[in-house]
Amino acid sequence: MTDKFYALDLDNSEWTRILDEEFGEPRFRADQICQWLWQKGVFDVAEMTNLSKPLRDLLEPRIDFGGPLLIKEQRSSLDGTRKYLWQMKDGQSVESVLMRHGERLTACISTQVGCPLGCTFCATGLSGYVRNLSAGEIAGQFLAMEKAAGRDINNAVYMGMGEPFLNTEAVLKSIRMLNDPKMRNLGIRHIAISTSGIVPGIRELAESGLGVRLAVSLHTADDKLRGILMPVNETFPLDELKKAMQEYQKMTGNRITIEYALFGGVNDSVEDARLLLR
Ligand code: SF4
Repeated sequence: MTDKFYALDLDNSEWTRILDEEFGEPRFRADQICQWLWQKGVFDVAEMTNLSKPLRDLLEPRIDFGGPLLIKEQRSSLDGTRKYLWQMKDGQSVESVLMRHGERLTACISTQVGCPLGCTFCATGLSGYVRNLSAGEIAGQFLAMEKAAGRDINNAVYMGMGEPFLNTEAVLKSIRMLNDPKMRNLGIRHIAISTSGIVPGIRELAESGLGVRLAVSLHTADDKLRGILMPVNETFPLDELKKAMQEYQKMTGNRITIEYALFGGVNDSVEDARLLLR
């Protein structure tokens, strides 16, 4: 028996090929299925009513159509932020957050189960790393949040659990699927990646030609302190990171956002501000 395909992992061209080679179906079927999954939030093939019943019966045992399973939802009474806990097919769970700014919604999505980078201020980092998420598991959080919220979400930010550039291939594929007009059709400038400073990932993103927004979590411009707060700094120290950021801006013409969380008595002195300006 062959393994099932995971529906949300397949991009439009993969659907086209599989439907042609394995089911003898024309290419417009791929567009129909992508619309159900990515635009209507339907994760049950039985509800895809413009597919014939015989085709649905053939697809059901071969393709897993399920989205992330909602285990828990918490709502903040202060600002309407919602936090979701999802269960994946293997029982592992990840969190996503839905933030509201006026009428606009931003989904903060995870890219890994846990994280190997061990930033000292981060609960995910301290709990260790389990595995990378697939492209469909990453983008599926966005689709499942739209379903839970009952409306379209305007922006996606890759800054939940995990470091996106330790899972670059799946991250870039998930972005292409969210952006594809035949899939979710989310504008590319409505998608942002936040990295802790993985230099090869910054270069790969620049070379990919994807015009997503990029943010770097800096938190201090002091190499020694950054090495303590964010052990990734030992591998990619500030000089190297700065060079990669400058190259990125030159190649893409896009500005990079610098994220800096203030920790009282740690990185919030006047000298810290001076270092940052340099
Ligand atoms: S890279 Fe992000 S998720 Fe990983 S430990 Fe650091 S802050 Fe946490």
